[in-house]
Amino acid sequence: MKKLLLRVNLSDRSFREEEISPEILEKYIGGKGLAAYYSYKELKPGIDPLSPENKLMFFIGPLTGIFNVYSRHVIASKSPLTSTFSDSYAGGWFGAELAKTRFTGIIVEGKADSLVYLKIDGDKISIEDAKDLAGKTTYEVDALFKDFRVATIGPGGERLIRFACVINDPAKRQRAGVAGRGGLGAVMGSKNLKAIVVKRKFTPEELVAEKFRDAAAQLRRTFIEYLKSEVIPGVGLGGNLPVMQLAAEAKVLPVRNFREGYIEGYEKVSEDAFREVTIGKSTCYLCPVACGVHIKVKTGSFAGLDLDRIEYETVALNGPNCMQLDIGTIAKVARLCNEYGMDTISVGNITAFVMECSEKGLIDYRLNYGDSAGQVKLVEMIGQRKDIGDTLAEGLMRTAEKLGLQGHAVQIKGLEIPGYDVRGPVGMALAYTTADRGGRSLKSMDDSCRT
Ligand code: SF4
Repeated sequence: MKKLLLRVNLSDRSFREEEISPEILEKYIGGKGLAAYYSYKELKPGIDPLSPENKLMFFIGPLTGIFNVYSRHVIASKSPLTSTFSDSYAGGWFGAELAKTRFTGIIVEGKADSLVYLKIDGDKISIEDAKDLAGKTTYEVDALFKDFRVATIGPGGERLIRFACVINDPAKRQRAGVAGRGGLGAVMGSKNLKAIVVKRKFTPEELVAEKFRDAAAQLRRTFIEYLKSEVIPGVGLGGNLPVMQLAAEAKVLPVRNFREGYIEGYEKVSEDAFREVTIGKSTCYLCPVACGVHIKVKTGSFAGLDLDRIEYETVALNGPNCMQLDIGTIAKVARLCNEYGMDTISVGNITAFVMECSEKGLIDYRLNYGDSAGQVKLVEMIGQRKDIGDTLAEGLMRTAEKLGLQGHAVQIKGLEIPGYDVRGPVGMALAYTTADRGGRSLKSMDDSCRT
């Protein structure tokens, strides 16, 4: 089967299919490799990331959709946060569905003159009017396309919030995927593209050449057995929620805007605490690990709140880093971020920055560490670009530069950093500073596991 690229020009609402040559596939394989290849080839130096000259790219890997666990897709572009190439990955179900169309990637160019969405329905491709989707949350958009896999932005992307993300299938109660880092949702919003909805054409078996189908089926069975015996027993709730205890014990937890590495009572937001409020599990495409966790808050101001996904970084940055140990507040912040389509890591860093500057009397806005109602209100103001939220929506680096408060902003190359105090794992400090897209633990010369 030929590997095809769908090139969409929103300025004139046209699209065409291009074959990706075997030489390019052999050299760059898929995912980030192809995204980097096309970015290097096609993006002019010096362009504004939020201008029509920028391009938004979606790519899958050669095994996506074929084998269990191979669910991921990459979204790449010039980042409005770091002003350089940025790649962000999402699990869930969208990538596998894209694999079952005839496309290995989508490149979106230009800018539509009004809000649109891209529809890939088997063989049929169309650019549809999306005026009715304007202002809708990611959950609301997804709920309208029950028979499709949906990658969408929320109001955050439409408002060009520089850390807006792209979320896939948040309302389907499976494991939603979030391409969270680098503000690629803002690039999507800058193109007036609200969503891409995809419905398959092929079965997973049909993606494999006939002569390899038996071998692929055998490999699939072997892989699942391996996951069940070797991987699943060691996977904690939410995939990485056990890191809370590890980071606290190692005193590398982000606490008080990264001023400290430990907080008394961290157990209130540990894996065990989240287990108490877990009401279900979810999984990415055909993954037997099923690390997704679905919670319902039991007590406090946000009792009854339902949240379909929670991970360590969200908890660490919006919890201890803001001196916040109320699960309900953290869940509410996470839910708002998902609805608006904003990166929870960036939001947690920005909130802690505001709390520190408020405590030191450096800004007019008042927000105390641990103030639940104030924290939730600030996230809403960011999502709406209201008052101070409008400044903060530009990201931590730009906000700090504007206010002359760079010494209080924890970011590297414009990207707010993940949930580890790198004064402990110093190798990770090197990792952040050498990562091609700034403060990011998974994209660098080293990572937490090896530090
Ligand atoms: S369910 Fe968890 S382990 Fe499985 S693919 Fe998704 S993120 Fe990975």
